[in-house]
Amino acid sequence: MSDTTAPEPRSVLITGGNRGIGLAIARAFEANGDKVAITYRSGDVPEGLLGVRADVTDAASIDAAFSEVEAEHGPVEVLVANAGVTKDTLLMRMSEDDFTSVLDTNLAGAFRVTKRASKGMLKLRRGRIVLISSVVGLYGSPGQVNYAASKAGLVGMARSITRELGGRGITANVVAPGFIKTEMTAALPEDTQKNYLSSIPANRFAEPDEVANVVRWVSSPEAAYISGAVIPVDGGLGMGH
Ligand code: NDP
Repeated sequence: MSDTTAPEPRSVLITGGNRGIGLAIARAFEANGDKVAITYRSGDVPEGLLGVRADVTDAASIDAAFSEVEAEHGPVEVLVANAGVTKDTLLMRMSEDDFTSVLDTNLAGAFRVTKRASKGMLKLRRGRIVLISSVVGLYGSPGQVNYAASKAGLVGMARSITRELGGRGITANVVAPGFIKTEMTAALPEDTQKNYLSSIPANRFAEPDEVANVVRWVSSPEAAYISGAVIPVDGGLGMGH
């Protein structure tokens, strides 16, 4: 006999879910019937979502945000580490701060939130961790030594988490978007955008929803046996990773 009961809504937390790809991910989980919380630093909380203030460079603010989400929605069962920044410049011009500040947000930020989330997931004996990387992490990109290093680091992080926690019903995967239409990419010079377009087999940039749907799926019960994977959403740009 098949089980016809609707799945229980899960407590989902997305860092940097107030705009761009993070907001699209939040909406995808919301449409799935889950209880969705997002972190934000300033501005307004998008309608229908639980907004908790947090800066991923600050472990205390992450701890406070998780406590708030746990009180409202229960322990976080799905964590999407999405918050990210760029500070592009060529290696010769890249300052120590350009490098470490990007690493601190993109890589150490993911470490801080996954560490905090793992507590609750271990108690639940289930969980889904999704780290938002980038095609650039494994493909490389001139002017993005800091960003690419931070995004490549997420692969080792997800695979190590998989080896540590894989036996406890927890998966950790990397989703690696290519060129997605958000404020981050709108800020790139026009010739950089043209260069990217010419090397994308799909011959177009993607909408944030196209990333969100993959994140939602890899967090679903159907993807229980996928862990430590790097899933590209890049129109074929980075083939061969
Ligand atoms: P946006 O610049 O549109 O949004 C970035 C988000 O990260 C914002 O919500 C921002 O919050 C948050 N954030 C940045 N720094 C911090 C911090 N220290 N603490 C908490 N939150 C922070 O970027 P996208 O939506 O384009 O990108 C989302 C993710 O996808 C990033 O990790 C990015 O690297 C990755 N990505 C994007 C691609 C693209 O083509 N757009 C391609 C590949 C990867 P706030 O509003 O408070 O600034």
